Amino acid sequence: MFTPIFDRSLYDAGTLQPSYWEDTVQRRDFPVLQADLACDVAIIGGGYTGLAAAYHLARDHGIDTAVLEAGPIAWGASSRNGGFMSYPPTKLGIGAMIDRYGLDDTRRFFADLRAAADYPREIAQEEGFDIRLQGDGTFDAAHNAHAAEGLRASAEAHARVGIRTTLYSREAFTAIGHGGTEQFGGLHVEGGGGLHPLAYAMGLADAAARRGVKLFASSPVERWERDGSRHRLVTPGGTVTARRVVFATNGWTPDGLHKAIDARIWPALSNIVVTRPLSEAELQAAPYVTDTPVSNTRKLLFYYRLLPDRRFLFGARGDVSGTPRAAAAMRAWMERRIGELFPAWKDVGTDYFWRGLVALSLKLAPSVGRVPDDPSVYYGFAYHGSGVVAGPLAGRYLARAIGASPDGGVDVPAPLAGLPPRFALPGLRRPALAMVYAGYGVKEWLGDRL
Ligand SMILES: Cc1cc2nc3c(=O)[nH]c(=O)nc-3n(C[C@H](O)[C@H](O)[C@H](O)COP(=O)(O)OP(=O)(O)OC[C@H]3O[C@@H](n4cnc5c(N)ncnc54)[C@H](O)[C@@H]3O)c2cc1C
Repeated sequence: MFTPIFDRSLYDAGTLQPSYWEDTVQRRDFPVLQADLACDVAIIGGGYTGLAAAYHLARDHGIDTAVLEAGPIAWGASSRNGGFMSYPPTKLGIGAMIDRYGLDDTRRFFADLRAAADYPREIAQEEGFDIRLQGDGTFDAAHNAHAAEGLRASAEAHARVGIRTTLYSREAFTAIGHGGTEQFGGLHVEGGGGLHPLAYAMGLADAAARRGVKLFASSPVERWERDGSRHRLVTPGGTVTARRVVFATNGWTPDGLHKAIDARIWPALSNIVVTRPLSEAELQAAPYVTDTPVSNTRKLLFYYRLLPDRRFLFGARGDVSGTPRAAAAMRAWMERRIGELFPAWKDVGTDYFWRGLVALSLKLAPSVGRVPDDPSVYYGFAYHGSGVVAGPLAGRYLARAIGASPDGGVDVPAPLAGLPPRFALPGLRRPALAMVYAGYGVKEWLGDRL
């Protein structure tokens, strides 16, 4: 039934990806579904979107909720990301969003995101778990002189939608902790920072379980049947019958489970390497000492941050096949690029490499809502690689909508409303991604030389 878009090794939910995060947080075990069960809301996918939706359905509305996850809880991107609490989750510039959705709705979108960037800290405090916060806000780093001019325009665009930023010249940015060969100025964006993604996911899962949510690991939904107005989600160990279903599978969404969602998600790979702990002298030599996460302005961006034990985490887009061989080549390329950005680190090597799937869509913005011709089915996906803030926000919008009125719509700012267009030829999503990457590569190659 399910045809994977990338190499099959990426879809083996029976295997955990080794990572720095897995080595530094104790996972909690959740049971496998081994009997039939009835509930009000069933959620497919146990990452940030599904966990936040479940937690708020139970906490705020007392709704009987079950989560079905194919692997261990938060097996997907929610345990593998860089931990950047950054926004917006779109590939549209702010100007393009204002043109498409109007200033008021774009401002509302940013106001919700800005508040959502505080959510991990607030919920962790409220529920008493530690997400190992680091830094304050996020930085965009200009990777060349032309991009530095773009940062000024970006600061003005952020101001239009009510977000505070601070511009740094190359020298000023170096003075506060980020030097290197591809730093030509920086823009600090308020809100967010860095967290431990798996600690966050485990904290949300525990909090949801304490509120009465039933969480099931290693329980993939293999079939979706209808029994009158009820949904029957069939897993290998048992069937869940529910009045409503939330689709929270993002980059791992299988085509064939629900026709309304089929061929609308465009998954892409993202990769992370982590160095050994760096000495104070090595950090000063770069120089790189800021705790605040940084993304650069490349179209195919690099994202990087220091970890609490002074390792350097470096992320980049992945390849377009997903084979183990391509992964090894990506790792070598990323190690080389670290040395090019920070020549003092050219021989430090890496202790960790891992990867995972993010979700893009032809809308270039997330989609959060209810299926028009099957209104008891809800969805939240396509955060364009920025789901640490946006995933739980989507989960909360969905919980609020379901809790407020079982038959009402989902009230979201215009950029989030509506399903993205389908791919006319879904089998060509991988070659299409290769073409986009090639186009960006040429643009960057030219840009670096103009
Ligand atoms: C390497 C990497 C780095 C990233 N870095 C950042 C970052 O620094 N900041 C940021 O904001 N975002 C980042 N992201 C993106 C972010 O992690 C995601 O947007 C976010 O985790 C999405 O959460 P989710 O719950 O929607 O999906 P996921 O966490 O991917 O969860 C979806 C789950 O659905 C499950 N599933 C799929 N099919 C089924 C089925 N049939 N039955 C049951 N379960 C099923 C999967 O097993 C999976 O666990 C990164 C992603 C990756 C891969």
